[in-house]
Amino acid sequence: MGEFELIRRFFAAAPCAQPAEGVALGIGDDCALLQLPPGEQLAVSTDTLVVGVHFPHSPDPFLLGQRALAVAASDLAAMGAAPLGFTLAMTVEQADAAWLQAFAQGLSQMAQDCGLALVGGDTTRGPLSLTLTVFGRVPAGQALTRSGAQAGDLLCVGGELGDAAGALPLVLGQRESSGPAAQQLLQRYWAPQPQLALGQWLRGRATAALDISDGLLADCGHIAAASGLALQIEAQRVPLSPALQEIAGVAARDCALAGGDDYRLAFTLPAEHLPALRAQWPACAVIGQVLAGSGVQLLDAAGCLVDPPRAGYQHFGSAGD
Ligand code: ADP
Ligand code: MG
Repeated sequence: MGEFELIRRFFAAAPCAQPAEGVALGIGDDCALLQLPPGEQLAVSTDTLVVGVHFPHSPDPFLLGQRALAVAASDLAAMGAAPLGFTLAMTVEQADAAWLQAFAQGLSQMAQDCGLALVGGDTTRGPLSLTLTVFGRVPAGQALTRSGAQAGDLLCVGGELGDAAGALPLVLGQRESSGPAAQQLLQRYWAPQPQLALGQWLRGRATAALDISDGLLADCGHIAAASGLALQIEAQRVPLSPALQEIAGVAARDCALAGGDDYRLAFTLPAEHLPALRAQWPACAVIGQVLAGSGVQLLDAAGCLVDPPRAGYQHFGSAGD
């Protein structure tokens, strides 16, 4: 199978590459053409995933397709952008039809969940690696950035954290992976759900936002630095799933604080918006506040400042970033 046959069969023909709103021209020419409504800006982000660095060797291709797009789309959620399309630059060792078919199905599944159309890409031979560029649209000047937090804002997260970090020993085959709790964590690792609707709802409400990819503490440090303020986190308020507590035991909280790959949003919110957040997004949790100062402070259950846990799990998400 040649390069063009491969592109045609598995990508141009995939459900996610069919005509979509905002895509004036898709796969097949030298460029794709995207149409933005007047007054909107284009949000663009690229992520590369390399075998052995960001995911294990011999991954399930369906799951890999899902995860690669979810990781990339999460950056659109973080900016409050509405999804438009994406490109896929892929390097594969060989043209294995069954593998490519399953990969394209996983990719299409996540593309459908996110509302993203595949509009182009590149295909080369070599060690397995994927580069996805996602495109979104946002009303001019309304994107959520990391730099707008204000002293007095609440620090919030989009839901339970730490599941993907808790899944790592299972992903790496260091631990038995049967049972519903293990399956739930594996699902969170392989198919994170980018919080695109939440991100758009936060436009005009949140003062700063990002998606948690390197771990809550590390990523909150980015908001603190960009905003020139301190973020204080109360460790006991960080939501943990029952599945994570079952699998990780006493290490669950450290997974949530320092583990990576959550792909949930962290954001700062003026307190006046809290009732609406609680009503619309009950899974979101307030975990702390924004203060004058710098860096990230962690408080224990007694309200005492404690040293943050070191990243206890070596994980694919941070090593190669
Ligand atoms: P060019 O040589 O002009 O860069 P290519 O021959 O690489 O174009 O690709 C032909 C068309 O197929 C282009 O529209 C490109 O965007 C698309 N394409 C190539 N690889 C992929 C892929 N893996 N997934 C989706 N579209 C792809
Ligand atoms: Mg060309």
